[in-house]
Amino acid sequence: MSEKYDVVIIGAGPAGYVAAIKAAQLGLNTACVEQWLDDKGKILLGGTCLNVGCIPSKALLDSSYKFAEARDHLGVHGISVEAATINVPAMIARKDNIVKQLTGGIAGLFQHNGVTAISGTGKVIAGAKVEVTDKDGNVQIIEAANIIVAAGSVPVHIPPAPLDNEYIIDSTGALDLTEVPGRLGIIGAGVIGLELGSVWGRLGSDVVMLEALEEFLPLVDAQIAKEAAKILKKQGLDIRLGARVTNAEVKDGAVEVSYSSAGSEHVETFDKLIVAVGRRPRSEELFTTDSGLTLDERGYIYVNDFCETEAPHVYAIGDIVRGPMLAHKGSEEGVMVAERIAGKQAQMNYDYIPGVIYTHPEVAGVGQTEQALKANGIDYKVGIFPFAASGRALASSEAEGMVKLIAHAETDRILGCHIVGPGAADLVQEVVIAMEFGSSAEDLALTVFAHPTLSEAVHEAALAVDGHAIHIANRKKRK
Ligand code: FAD
Ligand code: AMP
Repeated sequence: MSEKYDVVIIGAGPAGYVAAIKAAQLGLNTACVEQWLDDKGKILLGGTCLNVGCIPSKALLDSSYKFAEARDHLGVHGISVEAATINVPAMIARKDNIVKQLTGGIAGLFQHNGVTAISGTGKVIAGAKVEVTDKDGNVQIIEAANIIVAAGSVPVHIPPAPLDNEYIIDSTGALDLTEVPGRLGIIGAGVIGLELGSVWGRLGSDVVMLEALEEFLPLVDAQIAKEAAKILKKQGLDIRLGARVTNAEVKDGAVEVSYSSAGSEHVETFDKLIVAVGRRPRSEELFTTDSGLTLDERGYIYVNDFCETEAPHVYAIGDIVRGPMLAHKGSEEGVMVAERIAGKQAQMNYDYIPGVIYTHPEVAGVGQTEQALKANGIDYKVGIFPFAASGRALASSEAEGMVKLIAHAETDRILGCHIVGPGAADLVQEVVIAMEFGSSAEDLALTVFAHPTLSEAVHEAALAVDGHAIHIANRKKRK
């Protein structure tokens, strides 16, 4: 039996590593167990987010966008570029360097804050202890006053399209292609499918997205989703809704994909097929039945609002528990749990978690959608401002999309904000802050915004809620 820690965390993704740093900052003797190894067999921190998720996908999105800009969008500024070319291995190497820098940064933060990193696979066993098996099969039992399970998620694989990791790949494989596929099929037009489709589509792939649902991005505000679909289709993404993939086979160096749509069968052939049908919690082999932990009906570790499991002093956070599978959601849960362990009265506001799709332009939202408010019978009012009327957006030739702000019909309290357009991720964050402070649409409308900025579109949308917008014709009568 080794030293007893105040807190032992399983998993060093954005949920686990943030919890570890926070716990150590609060003076708790903290260890973090991580199974991921680098190519030299050393512990690799950062989880899905840093290694095969948020960061590498954004690195490739930015590279591919710069390429598309040089090829397609600079002419309007009077700039001509000799035929732009892309060196895919160089682009991937840049991405790998960014990942390395950031994962190394977490190791540095662990050291700085005194978090002990333990290499191995952790399992919660009876009596709130953690059994750790290292890469050589050595087993140690670690005693902890508190355990935080942050084991994250893995891509969902579907029987009709088994991966061969060469022609049929998942999101991880799609971040490491060595050349641009001529024809690229993607199963699933969700967040990850759209981001990866954007990367390879911009670099020249002919992208076909097969989505089983009839509705595009059902969790996004319907008006914003419709506008996003229009913009993305114009960019060349062939998004086929109501298309359920039934089979995928590698034949003669290509993938033949069968799908059913509107009652008939179709076949398409692709050079590569990305399976992007979602992620599932990585809960297998994570705890023994006598540990006290339980799974809910969807395979997530069951927790209450404070991320407490059914076992005393055992918590679970991030993708392994209910809620949106987003890095920042897990990180905030990590902070909350570390503070509660340290005796603080921390809680987390699950109502205002922003979500972003990093297409170009970005799609971002927070709070309630119009369709959800309608379904719940809540009276609301809406203010919309199109980027076509924004001086700053026009100045940069980025004038597609709109800001939509929704406020309660009587109290005027902001209920949601949904944006498709330039800088949507950062713009929506302004509204998240306003919502956190209980702001009304009028509060935002009375705020001074710098000119010319994209954020003026948020200001104008807030003004438009009550028919007071200046730079568009108001649809509503002013009060
Ligand atoms: P993970 O990041 O999955 O980390 C869990 C860690 O636990 C892993 O390192 C794993 O090796 C380790 N582990 C698991 N089991 C054990 C065990 N038994 N013992 C020891 N260690 C274990 N989210 C966003 O917010 N923004 C984005 O832009 C975004 N883009 C994405 C793009 C892609 C392509 C993908 C795949 C995901 C993206 N996500 C994004 C989602 C985001 O990556 C996840 O929500 C986030 O990583 C979840 O954090 P986590 O700490 O809960 O789990
Ligand atoms: P997300 O959960 O946002 O990553 O989106 C994954 C998408 O994949 C969902 O919209 C699913 O409807 C879709 N999907 C799942 N299985 C299939 C299938 N067999 N064919 C086509 N689309 C699918």
